[in-house]
Amino acid sequence: MERVFNFNPGPATLPLPVLEKAQSELLNYKGTGMSVMEVSHRSKEFEAIVNDAESLLKELLQMSDDYKVLFLQGGASTQFAMVPLTFLKEGETADYITTGSFAEKAYKEAVKIGQVHIAANTKDTNHNRIPSAEEIKFSPSPCYVHITSNNTIFGTQWKDYSVFNNLDLIADMSSDILCGPLDVSKFALIYAGAQKNLGPSGVTVVIIRKDLLEKIPSALPSMFRYDLHAENNSLYNTPPSFSIYMVNLVLEWLKGQGGLAKVKEINENKSALIYEAIDQSEGFYRGHAEKEFRSIMNVTFRLPEEEMEKKFLAEAASKGLVNLKGHRSVGGIRASIYNAMPVEGCEKLAAFMKEFKKNQ
Ligand SMILES: *Cc1c(COP(=O)(O)O)cnc(C)c1O
Repeated sequence: MERVFNFNPGPATLPLPVLEKAQSELLNYKGTGMSVMEVSHRSKEFEAIVNDAESLLKELLQMSDDYKVLFLQGGASTQFAMVPLTFLKEGETADYITTGSFAEKAYKEAVKIGQVHIAANTKDTNHNRIPSAEEIKFSPSPCYVHITSNNTIFGTQWKDYSVFNNLDLIADMSSDILCGPLDVSKFALIYAGAQKNLGPSGVTVVIIRKDLLEKIPSALPSMFRYDLHAENNSLYNTPPSFSIYMVNLVLEWLKGQGGLAKVKEINENKSALIYEAIDQSEGFYRGHAEKEFRSIMNVTFRLPEEEMEKKFLAEAASKGLVNLKGHRSVGGIRASIYNAMPVEGCEKLAAFMKEFKKNQ
């Protein structure tokens, strides 16, 4: 059977060379006579995987030693709670910018824990934009500011973080981490569920500024303590070892692509193919996101009628372009084109869009 172009938002397509590598060493990992899933997480083989993954991530993002990388469980959704449990103390206020469904979920978890201020909200235009600097109203001295860097469902993406200078910025980057170079020094903490741009589900990558590790309340249950995970190099308990192994392979593959500047160029070209098909369709395809905030990871658009969208999805699937259905809060079509989506997949989709329009 042939592999399809899988535009699923997450779990998402993985690089073919990564899958092939995993397949080739599945039965006997580096001469251990067992698969990596069967190896002890305390073995030197597994420790090497964790260390390699951390150093590759640091290298790719050109991160300083002021940051620690953690591999945790519970998905980004656990981080929605762990962040305020850790950093939102009595008498303090955390600021949230709600630019989409996941941002709202993060906000709702924080509300359960302490005082939260919405610094900006884009719901009035169904989250088709990122708020402007003038629109953002911070509280007098927020203990942190939480944002979602890429809004997976709506297809918008932050392009500039300068409005957060001198604030402790915490970002959910689940759907755009490593889509291009990033100045990590602008962030206090970054987290990302792996299943979109990093690997399979089961592991959440956290990048935390080390000074914050000294302020973790010791009364927190152990599994919610970033400092304990850091002291134990993400081996406090049994980690999701296969997922971490896969993330490491994806990071090696990204390095082989030529680093993140190159990766960004490829992603921009890929997304431009689909955005061009939208913009040149004389209104047949209508993009959801305002142009200046268009995501290079999730492209969202509508067709003139719902019936036509159904036909579009069915015909696309018959050509091996699958999982293009948009989320119900936007409707229409969503093409998730993370790092692992080959250029060819985007070319095929753009060509299909032009052909489909012509045939209506
Ligand atoms: C998918 C997604 C999540 C949810 O992640 P889980 O790992 O399933 O908890 C959170 N935030 C963003 C931006 C996402 O795209």
